[in-house]
Amino acid sequence: MDYTHSLDEAGEYAQLAVALMDDQRITPHPNNFTVWYNYFSGDHPELKRTLDMLLNSSLALSETRNDQVYRKFCASPYDALPLHIMAEKMEVELGAVLAVIEQTGKGTAAYERTLADTSGALDRAEHADTLRPLVSRLLTETRSMVEQSQYLERRLAESATRIGQLTEELEAARREAMTDALTGLANRKLFDSLLRQNAMDAMETLEPLALLFVDVDHFKRFNDTYGHAVGDQVLKLLGRMLQRNIRGQDVACRFGGEEFAVILPQTSLDNALKVAETIRAQVAGKSIIQRKSGDRLGQITVSVGAAAFVPGEPVRQLMERADQALYLAKNRGRNRVVAETELDPQDLAMVP
Ligand code: GH3
Ligand code: MG
Ligand code: MG
Repeated sequence: MDYTHSLDEAGEYAQLAVALMDDQRITPHPNNFTVWYNYFSGDHPELKRTLDMLLNSSLALSETRNDQVYRKFCASPYDALPLHIMAEKMEVELGAVLAVIEQTGKGTAAYERTLADTSGALDRAEHADTLRPLVSRLLTETRSMVEQSQYLERRLAESATRIGQLTEELEAARREAMTDALTGLANRKLFDSLLRQNAMDAMETLEPLALLFVDVDHFKRFNDTYGHAVGDQVLKLLGRMLQRNIRGQDVACRFGGEEFAVILPQTSLDNALKVAETIRAQVAGKSIIQRKSGDRLGQITVSVGAAAFVPGEPVRQLMERADQALYLAKNRGRNRVVAETELDPQDLAMVP
């Protein structure tokens, strides 16, 4: 989770968190503190809702319950991954493969020795009678070698299957850690890395790169009116609408809460504004209908800020300009797209 609070805000949330933990006799270790800090900052509506329910219930806020809330809402997806378990399994499998290879080596060396001995004895053999035991030994050794090879082959095939499964599990876990659970879009972590990557590509190829910040208008009011669960459905719908309006190499991300970002590689600011306007108009034109009751919940709108990458600048500055353009769109009355070119140069001078 990323924190963007000012010193005063953070101080206030921290104090409230400590006071509540003291009052409820909750051990103020860092995990519990994170839970209650997030509760007071209100940035995490689901966490707040869960804790409000717990506070209003007769259930004690035990250490275990705090821990469950922490794991569900605050722990990094990486923490939840049994990565060390997977690594251990992988090590066991590799150990087995190495043992099999070593065994194969030993078996082959022994067989080679037998062949050499027998070949020497064959050279020296004068009668058919002396040949019989030699041939019989050769046959036995060859049979045993074949059996051993078949066993080793089976073991290697089993190990290959298990290693394949582990690799798939690891890949799924990696994907999950980069995906926003509600919308299925890229999450903030992936956004950060993709934006940096795209900025580097843009510098290399001298192709343009644009960024959109999309924020739902008056979403707090929407949630207050229809409830968070309906709000969540709207965020999912919005995720799908973003996805539908972008092309292959573009990336739509859930930046956090009700804010989304779209990375548009090889796209000029003018073209990015067209994409933004299409998205804005589509969202505004959609009536939200509650699935269960069929009730019409009216419309939602989004404001969009658009900026273009200036080769060589830190991506933070590009994000800052998109954010300021979004802020201007809100100030001008929302449900609109504003380009960074409309920003007052005075404001831009303040961007570090
Ligand atoms: P503005 O037009 O200025 O953006 O107003 P706003 O109400 O959208 O903005 P504000 O930042 O005041 O509030 C954002 C709200 O978004 C707060 C919270 O209720 C809601 N929100 C954030 N994340 C989620 C989420 O994951 N699910 C739901 N249902 N609501 C969320
Ligand atoms: Mg909003
Ligand atoms: Mg917002």
